[in-house]
Amino acid sequence: MSTYLGIYIKAIPKKVEEKSYNHQKCSEGHTNNYSANFCQECGQKIITLSSIDKVDHTYFNMLNDGTIPEVYEDMVYKPEYLDDEILIPNNNIYGVELYKGGAYSIYQNYSIHSIRTFKDEYSDFLEVLDSAYKSYEVLYGVVYYHD
Ligand SMILES: [Zn+2]
Repeated sequence: MSTYLGIYIKAIPKKVEEKSYNHQKCSEGHTNNYSANFCQECGQKIITLSSIDKVDHTYFNMLNDGTIPEVYEDMVYKPEYLDDEILIPNNNIYGVELYKGGAYSIYQNYSIHSIRTFKDEYSDFLEVLDSAYKSYEVLYGVVYYHD
């Protein structure tokens, strides 16, 4: 097990977005292409149905759909075993990874100073998070994960 100590962002996604789409099926449930009027498998008439997909606003699908511009792709990382709400800055001056038995000491007020520096350096990125997420917080502390 290792531990990350330092700056992390806790970002609360906006409410899950619903996207509707149409698809075409015959009454037997065969899926068909859009141009045909009758099923290619059983010959029955094809009807159009609409469905709703729920899309989670994770960091990665916001990158995919352009909510977060691609230029910000490398600003943070998220180990897969961490909660989707936690983002860790990619710049390792803001945190340290401790392995089993490791020790690290921080100066008093270091966290406050570090958060201030981080907010300055990442201000453009934080503005993007501000509109992409419901809310976010820049925090300093320990994030556990297994490796
Ligand atoms: Zn059919």
